[in-house]
Parts: sequence; structure tokens; C-alpha cells
Amino acid sequence: MRISYLALSDTRCTVQIPDCNFNCRGCFSNQRHNGGVEVSAAHIAGHIPPGNEVMLAGGEPTLYRQELLSLIYELDGQKVILSTNGYLLDRSLLEKLGGITVHIDLKALNPELHRWYTGKDNATVLAAVQMLHDLEFDFEVSTVYIPGFVEAREIGNIARFLSGVGDIRYKITRYVPVNDFSSRPGVHEIQDAVNTARKYLGNVSSSIENRSHPVDRKIVNIS
Ligand code: SF4
Repeated sequence: MRISYLALSDTRCTVQIPDCNFNCRGCFSNQRHNGGVEVSAAHIAGHIPPGNEVMLAGGEPTLYRQELLSLIYELDGQKVILSTNGYLLDRSLLEKLGGITVHIDLKALNPELHRWYTGKDNATVLAAVQMLHDLEFDFEVSTVYIPGFVEAREIGNIARFLSGVGDIRYKITRYVPVNDFSSRPGVHEIQDAVNTARKYLGNVSSSIENRSHPVDRKIVNIS
């Protein structure tokens, strides 16, 4: 499969995978257009310290369906977290992914806003959230707060939708400005969105109190 690099910390290895099927106007991933290198799943697994939690991130890892399954197979026994935009998470793939944790990004509930921002419809993403719940996955939904585009009102609508599926873990993350698309939201804006989402869900957090990426990490290029 193609990978850009591994990012290693004491407890986690992030496998950074290039390419994406979305075309987000405010994409923060500098790896999206990195061609990466072609390596086997076994070769990647050989570079990952045993016992480390493994985050598969992109870009969009589900673009490489078969290779993704091979890598998860090679990582047998290690905690695996798949970070995905959810567009390609159909039932057949999910049934093969049992046992891993999924972090699914829901950019917007409003279909027009989602299509405008990502270039794709959100119907399959919403269906994936329902399937993750029905198949009893350990999973979390996250939304990036983007000032001027995805704010507390949209986040409240997402939380209401999620509450109709179940009491889903929901995380609001702060937008990191790129290309002058938007700005970094203030702490009070994030807190307002968290409070709005908490009207519907029991487990809401934000990237302000709960960072998901280790600060101290080493980048390893493999070939
Ligand atoms: S889903 Fe993520 S990597 Fe893909 S275009 Fe959107 S922000 Fe960038």
C-alpha cells in the first residue's frame, strides 16, 4: 500500500496514508497530495513497535481497502484506530473491520453544505454512522468547527442527528487555518458548540481539553 510516513511517539504510531476522495475547501492535511511510497503491509507492520496503539490516518485510508485489511491483519493484537471521512465505509468493509476503533469525521449534516465543502454527498457518511452503531463498534464522531461555515448551530444539528442513532461519543475539533480559508476558532466558540451538543448527547468533548495527537513524535520515512 502507499504511505507517506510513520509518526512515532511513546504510545502511538500513526500511519499516514496519502490521497483523499474528498476535496475539502479548508483541507488541513499536507499529506493529501503526497504520492507516498509503495510498501507491503508486512513491511509497515515490521516498523511499528509492539504494544503501540496504531492510528491509520490520511488522506483517506479506506481508499486502499484490501491493503488496509492486510495491514490490520498484520497488526493482530495491537489496538488499531481508523481515522476516516466515512464515505467508503460500507457494510461489507465494516464487517471485516470488527474489533478496531473508528474515528469518523462528519463535516456537516446539511447536505448542500457538505457537498459544497467536500465535493461529495454525505448520505453514505450518515449511513456509516448508523452501521457503526448497529454493528456495536467502539467509535467516535468528530466535526471540525470552522468559523463562518461549520459553527454551533450546525454542530447542534449534527448532535441532534447523532442522538437519534444513540448516545454517540462526539468530539469537536478546532479548525487549523490554511490558505486563508477561515480562522482559528476561539475557546469560547468551541465551548459554545460543546454546550450546544451536550443538549443532545452525554459524551461530548473538544480538542481543547482532549488532544488526540501526541505532541512529542518522531517522523519515520520508510521505503
Ligand atoms: S477528508 Fe480530510 S484529508 Fe480529505 S480533503 Fe477533507 S480534510 Fe483533507
